Amino acid sequence: MNLKGGCACGAVRYELAESPMIVHACHCRDCQRITGGAFVINLWIERNLVQVSGEPRSYMLAGGSGKPHEVFFCGSCGTYVWSRYHGAPGDALFVRAGTLDNPESVKPDIHIFTRSKVPWLELPKGALAFEVGYKISEVWPRESLERLEKNKSVRN
Ligand SMILES: [Zn+2]
Ligand SMILES: [Zn+2]
Repeated sequence: MNLKGGCACGAVRYELAESPMIVHACHCRDCQRITGGAFVINLWIERNLVQVSGEPRSYMLAGGSGKPHEVFFCGSCGTYVWSRYHGAPGDALFVRAGTLDNPESVKPDIHIFTRSKVPWLELPKGALAFEVGYKISEVWPRESLERLEKNKSVRN
């Protein structure tokens, strides 16, 4: 998979060297506010696999875990391109699927924080969905778990 994307004005561009470890649809209130949408689609991928041109700016929110949630956006056009969750294991970025050149190339593996999902949105039958979070070791495919283990040993 060759995933590329960028912000609305083109000052920030990125390319993912591999497919994401997992794709989350997050229905939490922060993601609704930040995106202005019903939920966000995040591509969870090792930070060193994201090649970036341009310099996104960032600010810190208090994440749901109590650890900071750092939100990155283009300083020129304000498009939110990714997040870093300091409470998440490993050294990864959560890239916004809506900023991909071809957003249809990914779909959510897991829906989280469905407790604040807007009521008019019905998830597909059989979708993996959790009211809040879940245990990674019980849910992720083996290949992704192996990548996460490697990623945990990278210095933050
Ligand atoms: Zn921009
Ligand atoms: Zn969220």
